[in-house]
Amino acid sequence: MFNNIYVGIDDTDSQTGMCTTYITSVILDKLKSCGYNIKGYPRLIRLNPFAKFKTRGNGAVSFKINIKSENDAINIKKIVLNYIEDLSQLQDERTNPGVVFFQGKISAELERYAMKTIRDIVPLKETLALAHKIGADVYKFKNGRGIIGALAAIGCPLPDKTYELLAYRLPENYGKKRMIDYDSVRLMNEKMYPQTFDNLDNGYIAIEPHTPCPILYGIRGESPDMVLEAHNLIKTMEKIERYRVYETNQHTDMHIVKIDKIAHMKKYGCYCVRGIVDDNPHTIEGGHVIFTLKDASGKLECAAYEPTKKFRETTRKLIKGDEIIVYGGIGNKGTLNMEKFCIQNLSTLYREENPICDCGRRMKSAGKNKGFKCLKCGQKLREGTKIRLEVKRDLKKGCYEVPPSARRHLSKPLVRFT
Ligand SMILES: [Zn+2]
Repeated sequence: MFNNIYVGIDDTDSQTGMCTTYITSVILDKLKSCGYNIKGYPRLIRLNPFAKFKTRGNGAVSFKINIKSENDAINIKKIVLNYIEDLSQLQDERTNPGVVFFQGKISAELERYAMKTIRDIVPLKETLALAHKIGADVYKFKNGRGIIGALAAIGCPLPDKTYELLAYRLPENYGKKRMIDYDSVRLMNEKMYPQTFDNLDNGYIAIEPHTPCPILYGIRGESPDMVLEAHNLIKTMEKIERYRVYETNQHTDMHIVKIDKIAHMKKYGCYCVRGIVDDNPHTIEGGHVIFTLKDASGKLECAAYEPTKKFRETTRKLIKGDEIIVYGGIGNKGTLNMEKFCIQNLSTLYREENPICDCGRRMKSAGKNKGFKCLKCGQKLREGTKIRLEVKRDLKKGCYEVPPSARRHLSKPLVRFT
């Protein structure tokens, strides 16, 4: 008999509304009002950003409750499942909720499974087999794809973690413009950054989502106290229905696999790899900036996509020969979508000029491979070559990252590197 029960929930939301964290928050308040003791913080676990059938942001939720009897477990299951049935966006064909209940110890095998859902793609069959093996209780709604994330949220180890406080709107305000006092957010940022981060993005308010979901704002930070303090500094002109602090793998780079050979990288994997820039970056249609990275094992196309805005300007300053470490995920066309890069060595940039004539005037080309001639005094230089001049690079060694608006939930911001 175990005195705890884990509950994992995923895939209850749709593109147009609802949110698994909101349903979880409602459930937690109900369980509390029934006298149950919730242990620690509920967890918001982001899974592989490339999982094909992902929900918005691909996040699953879990929490742990103290139980005194098997009756408690039965009652908790009943409450959870009723709310999932009531609040899930079941009419959306892509919404396939899954709920997992588990009474037992988190094993190394369960942790490995969770890491696989974050770094790789896990089929439903594998989840069902593991759930059966460890005796987890699985509830599938529709095709039940959500149980993949639900079980992962229970088992995910958190060697590094951050916190997010989510404030929820009154249901009558869903879809309406969010009424947040932006000045209070700027003041909060002045006081709390970098203990809370991604508050602002280039002067714009970044804590506010742009979907019709129940979230009014989300504050990301290093500790529960910090996100709570920041929350208390924010003023809103609409009522907050409820709020909750989640413990999360967001902004930890948990999705990133360090790899030493480009040739070993696979589609839908997220990596950190070292290489040499093999051509000067160029801009393609749509405003995306592309270059090739190479190492002894192979070549990789890297991209700073249009939504990464100013990050593209930095990327354009790279030149052939620069040695960099890139972080990012490989999409279905085999291109690495860069989240950040760190410059290890800058190559020397040269500018070529025609030689100067004895008379002081810069010479002109006399034609291809014909040397140079002076237009002023007529002197010719048949064997002359262009002069190479070193140009100061407009780029420094160090790390560069995409702005908060383009950052993946899992991606670790540079401010968190110490
Ligand atoms: Zn001359």
